[in-house]
Amino acid sequence: MRRIPFFLPMKNCPDRCIYCDQRTITGHEYQPGPGEVKRALQEASEPVETCFFGGSFTCQPLDRQEEYLEAAAQAPACSRIRISTHPLCVDPGILDFLSRFPVRFLELGISSLDDKVLEMCNRGYTGSAAVERISLAAGSTRLVPGVQLMTGLPGQDLSSSLEDLRVLAEIKGDRAMQLRIYPCLVLRGTQLEELFLSGSYTPPGIDESARWAGRMIREALRSGFELLRVGLQETASLGEGVVAGPHHPALGELARSYALALSLVDLAGSGPWPVPFSSRSLLSGHGDWGFRELASLSGMAVDEVKHLVKWTR
Ligand code: SF4
Repeated sequence: MRRIPFFLPMKNCPDRCIYCDQRTITGHEYQPGPGEVKRALQEASEPVETCFFGGSFTCQPLDRQEEYLEAAAQAPACSRIRISTHPLCVDPGILDFLSRFPVRFLELGISSLDDKVLEMCNRGYTGSAAVERISLAAGSTRLVPGVQLMTGLPGQDLSSSLEDLRVLAEIKGDRAMQLRIYPCLVLRGTQLEELFLSGSYTPPGIDESARWAGRMIREALRSGFELLRVGLQETASLGEGVVAGPHHPALGELARSYALALSLVDLAGSGPWPVPFSSRSLLSGHGDWGFRELASLSGMAVDEVKHLVKWTR
């Protein structure tokens, strides 16, 4: 189903997270009002997924949310709505309110469940508060919940991220849950930039970030999460606003390459490895990055692992 996104950057966020500047990330300074949403959707000729991204949709006053959701209800029959919001603005009353509209996906921007990381990032809540809100969303029979996690945050490491995934997998159980992974970038004008410039924060490099996210992908897929995205969408505004951090247009692909290499080594430590031909670029792209990681993980030479990969249709 075609997605029609509307960006409401940092709309009604309860706090300002130290790394965030969504206007730079999305390149959208302007926030469309309900009237513009309605007009855009009236032009759709088939069902669409209307997405409200950025900010904290359900932190808005209920009458404002209602205006946006009623505008979204102007889309053709069988359309659906996706909302991204702040975990603290999810409660039984909000879920009940959303059930009056065709809201199918509710994504919570939780970043981390680690109290130390949350505090250092000024997220304004604890891990257990986030767990409570995700559990509420996961308990709804009408919604598919989603979580947005970050990597490379101050005070965070790979084991913290993997523990987050373990907790989320427990909440998920056999149900559906969607996942986005965003490696943290240092953006101009943020508090994180000050920490970076003062030497108090050093972001992981591109390779380390790709491996970190790749390890998470591997675990997430094993636990049955639906992976929606890894890495931010590249925009001109993002390119201009990044001061430091793992900024790479194909970071998500590098992470998926690493996840594939991990899965192959798990399958057979020293090969041979059947790999669908359609995944070829994951190993050979970006200067054989996936092959090189496979070689490193299996303790073999790159040429050797290339011979041990058997392409399948
Ligand atoms: S990270 Fe999310 S909650 Fe924090 S300021 Fe940005 S949009 Fe708001």
